[in-house]
Amino acid sequence: MKLYNTLTRTKEELPSPSSQKIITLYTCGPTVYDETHIGHMRKYTMDDILKRSLIFLGYKVKHAMNITDVGHLTGDDDSGEDKMEKGAKKQGKTVWDVAHEYEDKFWDTMQALHIDKNDIAVLHATECIDDMIMLVKLLEEKGYTYQTDQALYFDTTKFANYGKLSGQKLEDKKQAARDDVNIDPQKKHHTDFALWFQRIGRFSDHTMHWDSPWGDGFPGWHIECSAMSMKGLGTETIDIHTGGIDHIPVHHENEIAQSEAATGKQFVKWWVHHAFLNVDGEKMSKSKGNFYTLEDLKNHNIDPLAIRYLFLQTHYRKPMNFTWEAAKGAEEAYSRLKDYYIRIQAVVNNLLRPEYSPSQQLEIQNAEKEFLDAFSKCIVDDLNMSQALSVVWDVVGANLPEETKKNIIEKFDIVLGFNFNEFDEINLPMKIKQLKEDRDEYRDKKDYQNADSVKSKLNDLGYDVQDSAIGTIALPKK
Ligand code: AMP
Ligand code: ZN
Repeated sequence: MKLYNTLTRTKEELPSPSSQKIITLYTCGPTVYDETHIGHMRKYTMDDILKRSLIFLGYKVKHAMNITDVGHLTGDDDSGEDKMEKGAKKQGKTVWDVAHEYEDKFWDTMQALHIDKNDIAVLHATECIDDMIMLVKLLEEKGYTYQTDQALYFDTTKFANYGKLSGQKLEDKKQAARDDVNIDPQKKHHTDFALWFQRIGRFSDHTMHWDSPWGDGFPGWHIECSAMSMKGLGTETIDIHTGGIDHIPVHHENEIAQSEAATGKQFVKWWVHHAFLNVDGEKMSKSKGNFYTLEDLKNHNIDPLAIRYLFLQTHYRKPMNFTWEAAKGAEEAYSRLKDYYIRIQAVVNNLLRPEYSPSQQLEIQNAEKEFLDAFSKCIVDDLNMSQALSVVWDVVGANLPEETKKNIIEKFDIVLGFNFNEFDEINLPMKIKQLKEDRDEYRDKKDYQNADSVKSKLNDLGYDVQDSAIGTIALPKK
């Protein structure tokens, strides 16, 4: 599989699953001070697609993600307030309540997108303070830090390769810096960043604080990800690290500097960065308030999985503009695909298996292999998912037995993540099966009034009703 690596600015081949079975994957998680929006949905869905693609290709994936519940300031350059504290003040709640509330909302949204929390080692910043302190101590011992009256800083001039990810030289970064955001007057260089903030000055009321060798206070955001990735994955060199493109120039540059300074090893082999989801050309973001949430999707009658479909249509490195029109279009396409799967599932479950001659069987097997190869070709090319979707539709239109198409679509679904095979008609309760039969009998007799009243009964019992060539299909409402 080839993945675009921000570090080398080229698509680089991963080792094959036969030479390296396990891939370690770290995802920068959300800061839980506000709503999860469709921009986050895009980012975490594409991480999920990457992970599922690796599994489809035969790897085992060890995946860790942090939840930032302390230390992420409003300015990436150590300026401003802690986003969590700001969120708590705005809402008149405690920081801990805000963290719990928005983390729950985050996972609800992920679940609706079929992103499974149980497949991820989730680490909370507030539960890993000791690990961060240990890492900072190591940096201090190695001479990479200096203390001011307000904070302990990482001295970026001591790390020879600072700037290698974004390709910016330290000098350029210094020139680009604005004086007004450089709040601590004792900070030596604009690019230096806090490893530990003391609970003084602008942070004297900070609710979350811990004892440390550098005073009572709290960790900087960047050190959190270095410590938690190593802890969560049990390695100092990670195979793939993902994040939004906003993290390239500061957060990830700083993660590299402090991790490599501490361990002396390469921190990450593949840096994978996702482009933004925009609204009217601007990044959808919590701070701009131009965002839509899971709730908004429900209010517009859009299935979250249709949004998953929408994301698949644009390459993860290309910006994407969100409109309700595009969401509706994706909803239609996704529904067509889902209905098609349901129909062939019903056919396969209800009809006798046809007999095929050995030569026909061989032809079917070859066709199946060709489709799977075509699909793999798309995903191994830096996750060309829009092309992969067109292979899915080629299968729908192919002249193959329903059973074969069902098998192929279910294999593709390992990557697509729609969980089609959960739409299971077989395990219906007796009562529902009976109502289905009743409806079919009425329809055979063209007694549409009674057929409709049975349909309403099924709806009231929590089932969606669809017609198909082989009769009524009832599926539990989602
Ligand atoms: P945050 O909680 O804002 O720090 O964001 C968590 C992750 O979501 C980061 O990797 C961001 O880059 C990503 N993200 C935030 N907004 C968007 C957006 N509009 N489009 C794509 N990714 C986003
Ligand atoms: Zn991070």
